Amino acid sequence: MNSNELFERSLKVAPGGVHSPVRAFKSVGGHPLFFKESQGASLTSVEGDTYIDFCQSFGPMLLGHRDPDVTHALHKVVDTAWCLGTCEPYSLALAEWVVQRLSFIEKIRFVNSGTEAVMSALRVARAATGREKILKFDGCYHGHVDSMLVRSGSGLAGEASSDSLGVGESTAKNTLVAPLDDEEAVTKIFQQYGHQMAAVIFEPMPANYGLLQQRPDFWKHVIQLARQHGALVIFDEVISGFRVALGGMAEVLNETPDLVTYGKIIGGGLNVGAFGGRAALMDLVAPLGGVYQAGTLSANPLSMVAGLETLKKIEQLKIYPALEQRTSAWVEKVNHQLKENDVSMRMDHFGSLFWLRTWTEKPIRSLKDIPKTHGENFKKFFHKALHEKLYFAPSGYEVGFLSWAHTEDILNLALEKLERISKSWHE
Ligand SMILES: *Cc1c(COP(=O)(O)O)cnc(C)c1O
Repeated sequence: MNSNELFERSLKVAPGGVHSPVRAFKSVGGHPLFFKESQGASLTSVEGDTYIDFCQSFGPMLLGHRDPDVTHALHKVVDTAWCLGTCEPYSLALAEWVVQRLSFIEKIRFVNSGTEAVMSALRVARAATGREKILKFDGCYHGHVDSMLVRSGSGLAGEASSDSLGVGESTAKNTLVAPLDDEEAVTKIFQQYGHQMAAVIFEPMPANYGLLQQRPDFWKHVIQLARQHGALVIFDEVISGFRVALGGMAEVLNETPDLVTYGKIIGGGLNVGAFGGRAALMDLVAPLGGVYQAGTLSANPLSMVAGLETLKKIEQLKIYPALEQRTSAWVEKVNHQLKENDVSMRMDHFGSLFWLRTWTEKPIRSLKDIPKTHGENFKKFFHKALHEKLYFAPSGYEVGFLSWAHTEDILNLALEKLERISKSWHE
């Protein structure tokens, strides 16, 4: 069966044929490919074609797909423990590893997804402050928990409206929304609602609506306002945690968030999420405190082992400086090709995160800075890339990822393919 036939069948049994919306190729058009195998930097389709993968499962695979050491550790645990529902040493090992290295994580709780981590961190913040309102930013994604599926409303500064059917306006009412890169707007919202605010949550490296790199001063301003008004600071590091540095953006910005959410890399590609922070806050969580939080599959040994093995290897190989260097050299060459061939797109990057976006004179820091033509430009790029057997996330608003498995040879091969795309852009 080829991808098209499989997709036709999928449409009959799953909404839109998928189990997470971007996979359906809606924003780039055409039928999605079905992949049956992954290894390192590559994906193999059911048709038997091999692609260089720059999506990397949207972020968890910092070592690339099925890293041999992680695979080995997983084989061992498959033969000993899957799902225990008891106290076990696997989550303890991962928790200790994290707590010993990240000064701002005194205690951690494992959950099953980034969404769950955010949902639980917000509950802790509300319990700790006795307040209800949460401030988030347009252009930051925090999973699909109801209270975060909101966007700026049309009314007063900060007011939110529902961004999904099924999320009622009464839920949206307790979330406030600010634009990125705008100190004045944030100050106004704090002046009006600061005393009711339980927490401000943000992606310190916003990477879910493109890569919207913020000025560090902007975040410093937000954090300072939060502290002044007694609101907690929650870093959503589901994508940036262990990706931009071992200590994520908290380490990069040299800030101490009250709570942090993780996912993706911390499970090495298996189902996981986690939230952690100051012990006094985490001790509010059941069974010690009154904030209820639980999970049948939480901290299952497979995810814990995959996560720990991944993190250990990252630390042991000291991959960050090398991967950063590899990425910036590659991005520079890609940008050279794009420019030489008069393609109105450029690649931005931070560490091994990159975003291929439509060219603009000024840096893109908030949603309103993204050119309206970007969707169409990316769509054209995406299909040319597929033709060259390069797989990018199927949306112009998703970032791309380099992994440790993207060797110089693989990146050079990708450059040859990208050059053909640039050269044929205006044909
Ligand atoms: C991916 C992501 C989430 C959601 O995590 P899931 O595991 O998909 O539920 C939340 N926040 C950020 C910043 C993310 O990148």
